[in-house]
Amino acid sequence: MDPAAPDGPTNAPGSDAFRALKAELAECREELERVRAEEKLRSSDLSLLGRFGNLLLGCTDLAEALQTSEQMLSQLLPDCTGTIYPLIDGEGLAEATHLWGVPVVETALQASASDCLCMDRKRVQRGGSEDPASLCAHFQLNGGESDFATACVPLFAQGESLGWVTLTAPVPPGIAKLQRAIFATDQLALALGNLKLRQNLRDLSVRDPLTGLFNRRYLAESLGRELARSQRRGLKVAVMTFDLDHFKDFNDNYGHQAGDAVLVAFARMLQTNSRNEDIACRHGGEEFVVIMPEMVLDVAERRAQEIMQSLTTISVVHEGQALPSITTSIGIAIFPDHGKTPDRLMAQADLALYRAKSLGRNRAEVATEDLGLV
Ligand code: GH3
Ligand code: MG
Ligand code: MG
Repeated sequence: MDPAAPDGPTNAPGSDAFRALKAELAECREELERVRAEEKLRSSDLSLLGRFGNLLLGCTDLAEALQTSEQMLSQLLPDCTGTIYPLIDGEGLAEATHLWGVPVVETALQASASDCLCMDRKRVQRGGSEDPASLCAHFQLNGGESDFATACVPLFAQGESLGWVTLTAPVPPGIAKLQRAIFATDQLALALGNLKLRQNLRDLSVRDPLTGLFNRRYLAESLGRELARSQRRGLKVAVMTFDLDHFKDFNDNYGHQAGDAVLVAFARMLQTNSRNEDIACRHGGEEFVVIMPEMVLDVAERRAQEIMQSLTTISVVHEGQALPSITTSIGIAIFPDHGKTPDRLMAQADLALYRAKSLGRNRAEVATEDLGLV
């Protein structure tokens, strides 16, 4: 026993030591509560992140993945305002399509990839009101903001930039849980990358690579589907076939590449002249087909005239040379009047097209009544 120790117990209730111990205990309890709360939050965040991953796996298109992400990120980061900026074209333009929370600092609705420092640096860009140089160009300061913190997280997948996510929060507390936000954003990037890949594969199988119109395979599938649907509902369908006039001569005179440029311009014109429900296809070479659901003959004839008129206004410049305008011949057949099956209808439209050629080209001809001879 220590001879210097006092006789009675040193931590008796009411003593200074007792009070100090009590305070220490209270501190420990507080710390324990804090750790417990943190643990609880971590575990609920982990299950949220797991659920987010699963939901993304089930998304079938970009819009669904972005909508899911907005919901899940707002739950994961309730103290932050967020904006998802997916790139919307091949030129680096991004649109703030999904936003949550009340912004502490405004951010542009449209921005280019070069407006966000995280896109250039390919890593998270943290910033805040205390350091203006740390702020990306898409923030729109009005001078009335309280102190705020920002973080822009790039969306990168399979080596491709897909956009970014911007987070902002008042200071304090600033952006807490940034690591979890980055983890969630990586999951979103992976999902967007996979969906894009899937879309590209789908496009490859149904689109013509030169013009971007649907290809012959898709035409066959859609025509069958459209006729079946229209038969059930008692509706007409117009099929229009196009064959550019004297296109061989055009190629011979101006070259194959100039010919390609004209095919692309023709396809774009067809699409501009189409309704949403029309299906424009490149049948092959300089031959095109448009399926026009719910269209009666006189409207189809008028549309053919409009298309021929539009063609006169197209000007294509290739390698600095303005190319002469081209013309097309058109065959029109109406379901069910001129044919009740896809093959019969297409054959009737083609017969009308040959007639338009033999009658001098640059004109539209309508199929004759289906006599069941083709
Ligand atoms: P017609 O008025 O009777 O239709 O005459 P045409 O010269 O258009 O008819 P033809 O069928 O003899 O020639 C079609 C031409 O289309 C031949 C070919 O060089 C051209 N062509 C087919 N596919 C392509 C393509 O992908 N690019 C280019 N530039 N030309 C193509
Ligand atoms: Mg041809
Ligand atoms: Mg031709």
